[in-house]
Amino acid sequence: MGKITGFMEHERIEEGYKPVEERVKHYKEFVVGLSNDQAKVQGARCMDCGTPFCNSGCPVNNIIPDFNDLVYRNDWQNAFAVLDSTNNFPEFTGRICPAPCEAACVLNVNDDAVGIKSLEHAIIDRAWDEGWVAPRVAKHKTGKKVAVVGSGPAGMAAAQQLARAGHDVTLFEKNDRVGGLLRYGIPDFKMEKSHIDRRVEQMKAEGVVFRTGVIVGAAKDPLGKGSKVTNLAKETVTPEQLQKEFDAVLLTGGAEQSRDLPVPGRDLDGIHFAMEFLPQQNRVNAGDKVKGQLRADGKHVIVIGGGDTGSDCVGTSNRHGAVSVTQFELMPQPPEEENRPLTWPYWPIKLRTSSSHEEGCEREFAISTKEFIGEKGKVTGLKTVRVEWKDGKMQEVAGSEQVLKADLVLLAMGFVSPVASVLDAFGVEKDARGNARATVDFVGGYATNVPKVFAAGDIRRGQSLVVWAIREGRQAARSVDEFLMGFSDLPR
Ligand SMILES: Cc1cc2nc3c(=O)[nH]c(=O)nc-3n(C[C@H](O)[C@H](O)[C@H](O)COP(=O)(O)OP(=O)(O)OC[C@H]3O[C@@H](n4cnc5c(N)ncnc54)[C@H](O)[C@@H]3O)c2cc1C
Ligand code: SF4
Repeated sequence: MGKITGFMEHERIEEGYKPVEERVKHYKEFVVGLSNDQAKVQGARCMDCGTPFCNSGCPVNNIIPDFNDLVYRNDWQNAFAVLDSTNNFPEFTGRICPAPCEAACVLNVNDDAVGIKSLEHAIIDRAWDEGWVAPRVAKHKTGKKVAVVGSGPAGMAAAQQLARAGHDVTLFEKNDRVGGLLRYGIPDFKMEKSHIDRRVEQMKAEGVVFRTGVIVGAAKDPLGKGSKVTNLAKETVTPEQLQKEFDAVLLTGGAEQSRDLPVPGRDLDGIHFAMEFLPQQNRVNAGDKVKGQLRADGKHVIVIGGGDTGSDCVGTSNRHGAVSVTQFELMPQPPEEENRPLTWPYWPIKLRTSSSHEEGCEREFAISTKEFIGEKGKVTGLKTVRVEWKDGKMQEVAGSEQVLKADLVLLAMGFVSPVASVLDAFGVEKDARGNARATVDFVGGYATNVPKVFAAGDIRRGQSLVVWAIREGRQAARSVDEFLMGFSDLPR
């Protein structure tokens, strides 16, 4: 349980960041992880509560008190074994998970939570360094073939679990590289892509076949309505081909339809979805040449949307050398501190300042864009109005209109649904929000209305988090395994 009195003796230790002036000059990770000694102190703070709320706060149900204790006792190899038993990719979540586990930590009721995410980060990085992360090749093959469509965290987790259960797994991906939004959404400064490449090698050794540059099923709007991103897939495979060749198909194509802002002036040059902007920089970092790359150098940038994607646009714009970066959020500014007795153990709404915000950004809350204005076809500014919320309804504040200068506008207002055409091509029923309709029931979960076709991750639950995608991938793998074999030993 860590040290019996540890939570009374030790303060929480935060991971460090390299200085802003240094880190904005490059796209590398800049978090300074815990030393072994610091990790031991962090682990010592765990109280091993009778009911570990952290464990249910974590979507993959990491067995947190156990690995906290093992790190405290300097048994890192077993700490890794515990972590590896519930999470296929702790090096992803140890870097970019918002850590709902920490919101649920019992210490968080009246003190600072145990730094669970920093321990996860430390354990998995050490495990890779020590060579403890090795391929786990199935001892027996089942002879069953499974196609997984989409190589984000949901598809990768599912493919790894299914290969370990002895199935022949082929992972189809329309992009040229594996990883989904981990690869072409999340900037390298939050997570370098070598972490994905290393897992791909492990999965290849476990028997997973990767087919990149292959789009499944989608001829019309392959990348969503309004997207100016080019379809780079070199090959199209039809649902019929997959259904004929494979015993089961798992759709993990994400929720790629960006939310648009259809106000006057939307067609002006210089207004782009975040997902037209961010992937290009990741490609450049990977050594690709991107003709006419969208850049923020010397520009006044306005990012519309106050979430993670918006924050990633802020960090990337600052690295490009933007003159100014402003981020808009429609909702009012939340409180700096949550009301813990009211919100614990749930995820509280509070002001969150990301490392990208710290690098330079004006944040505007309760602001709405009425119109984009421009000259000679190019955006030059935004006409905005302040808003307030009365009886749950948004109202404009009379006389608060303003014009703000902008040469580049990035739309980061989230994603509304999966791209419809892939679900339509398979004949998969959608829910009211346009996501693939499938339950998460213990038996028969993740199955769609189409025989032997399953769905998991953002394509099923809507825009979410990497850790939820890993959970869904793992659970769907178990469901597919049960469907193929009549039973499954895979964990849920
Ligand atoms: C900019 C940005 C930043 C984010 N930051 C964070 C963060 O810090 N922390 C966090 O937890 N979450 C973050 N998220 C959310 C997180 O990335 C997603 O919830 C997660 O990646 C979803 O995983 P997924 O596997 O379901 O889908 P995705 O990661 O979207 O992967 C789907 C894959 O399927 C492929 N595909 C789709 N259709 C087809 C087809 N027809 N044929 C072949 N391939 C297809 C796509 O090309 C893609 O590679 C962020 C999202 C964005 C956009
Ligand atoms: S995956 Fe996320 S929620 Fe789970 S232990 Fe790690 S940081 Fe916490």
